[in-house]
Amino acid sequence: MIRAAYTFPRGFTWGTSTAAHQVEGGNTNNDWYAWEQQSSRIALGHTSGQACDWWGGRWREDLDRAASGGQTAHRLSIEWSRIEPTPATWDESAIEFYRELLQGARARGLVPLVTLHHFTTPMWMADRGGWSNEIIVTHFERFVRKAVGALKDLVDTWVTINEPNLVAYLAYLTGVFPPGGHSLTVTFATLRNTALAHAAAYHAIHEIQPEACVGLAHHYRGFQPANPKSPLDRWIARFRHRIFNDVIAEAAYTGRLNLPGASQRLPQAARTQDFLGLNYYSTEQFAFDLRHPARALMVGEYPQDADLSPSGFIANAPEGFWLALQWANRFGRPIIVTENGIEDAEDTIRPRYLAVHLHQLWRAVNFNWPIQGYYHWSLVDNFEWDRGWTQRFGLYELDIETQERKERPSARFYADICRENSISSEMVERYAPEVLDELFPTPGDPELSRLVGQ
Ligand code: BGC
Repeated sequence: MIRAAYTFPRGFTWGTSTAAHQVEGGNTNNDWYAWEQQSSRIALGHTSGQACDWWGGRWREDLDRAASGGQTAHRLSIEWSRIEPTPATWDESAIEFYRELLQGARARGLVPLVTLHHFTTPMWMADRGGWSNEIIVTHFERFVRKAVGALKDLVDTWVTINEPNLVAYLAYLTGVFPPGGHSLTVTFATLRNTALAHAAAYHAIHEIQPEACVGLAHHYRGFQPANPKSPLDRWIARFRHRIFNDVIAEAAYTGRLNLPGASQRLPQAARTQDFLGLNYYSTEQFAFDLRHPARALMVGEYPQDADLSPSGFIANAPEGFWLALQWANRFGRPIIVTENGIEDAEDTIRPRYLAVHLHQLWRAVNFNWPIQGYYHWSLVDNFEWDRGWTQRFGLYELDIETQERKERPSARFYADICRENSISSEMVERYAPEVLDELFPTPGDPELSRLVGQ
C-alpha cells in the first residue's frame, strides 16, 4: 500500500445538508403533515413529530457539532408554510426564527446555503393542487420575494427548488409522495410548473439581491441497461435518463422543456442557474420488459452483486457519481454537490461509501471541473419522508425518544477529511480498510494503472 492523500483545492467547501420538515418538528400546516396522518402512507405509521427538535432550539447543538467537525458550510431549508401560513399573510416570528438560525450558523463559521422549497408545500397551496396547478408559480414567487427580502443580508447562495424531477415523479406518478397521484400527464404538467416557478424565483431573487448565486438542486439518478448488449435495455436506460435527469436541467439552461411528445419553449427559464446543485445517491439498472412496457416508467433494480444499504434502498455505486459529475459539467456552470449519502444505522457501509464517492469527486476536481463544494446528507438522522424513521442517514445517530445524539464513526471520518481538506490512506485504513487497496493500491498492482490511467 502506498501512503498518500487525495487533496482538494484550497477553499473547497465541506458541509452537510438538512431540510426543514425533516429536522424541525412541529410542522403541522403542510401537505406532508396531512399525509403523515393518513394510515399506511409512511413506513410503520411513523410521523415527523418532534423530528430533531430544531424548532425547539436543538439546531444549536447540531451546528456546534458540524462546526467542531471542521465543516465550513451548512445547507438548510426554510419552511414556506411557517412563513406564509395562509395566503399573503406573513408570520414575522417564523422569519425571526430563521434569522436567528442563519446568524447562528454564520457565528459558528458555517456559511449557509438556503433551499426555498424542499418537498413541503403549505396546506392552502396543496388544497389548490400544489405543483400540478400553474397558479403555484405566482404564489411561490410571492413567497420567495418575501423570504429573500427578509434574509438576504445573511444568505448569498439560494437553491430555489429541491429535486423538482423527483417531486414530480413521486408525487404524481408512483404516488409515494403527497398527493399520491398516478398520471403521466399531471407529472409532465408538474415538471413544467416547477421549471416555471424556478425561473420566476431566479429572476425575482436577482431583482432583490443582484449579487446572489441561485440554482436548483437536481436529483441525478444513474440509469444503466441491465444487459448492455440489449438495444431495448439501452434504449430504456437512455429514455429514463432523458426524462428524469435532463428535463429540468436542460430547461434551466436552454429554455426548452423536452418532454416526450410535448416539447415546448420556456424562454424565461433559459440561463437560470448561477450554479448547478447536484444530489447523487445511487445508480439502478433497467431491463425493458415487452410484456409490461409501463414498468419502464417505474423503478429499476440494483445488480445482484450490488453493495446495498441495510434496507436495500441505496446501492453503493461511485462510478455513477463520476457520471453524474460529468453530466453536470456539461452545463458549464460551477457545480455544488448539494447532497450525497447513504442510510446506514449501524454505520457499516457509510465509511466506505464516503471514501469511494469522495475519491470520484477528487478525480472530477482534478479534471478541472468547477466543483466548489460537497454537502453530505445528512448531519443527523432525520425524518425520511415515506420511509419515516426506518432509514438513518446521519453522521450522528438520533434517539427520537430522548433527542440524544451519538457520534457515528463516519462523523469522525468526515471531520478528519474536512479538517485536512483531503482523504488520506491513513484515514481510509482507519475507517474503511475494506477499500484501502482499491483507493491506494500497492505500486505494481494492476489496480494502480487502472486508477491512474482512467
Ligand atoms: C432528498 C432528501 C432525502 C434524501 C434521502 C433526497 O432525495 O432531497 O430530503 O432525505 O434524498 O432519502
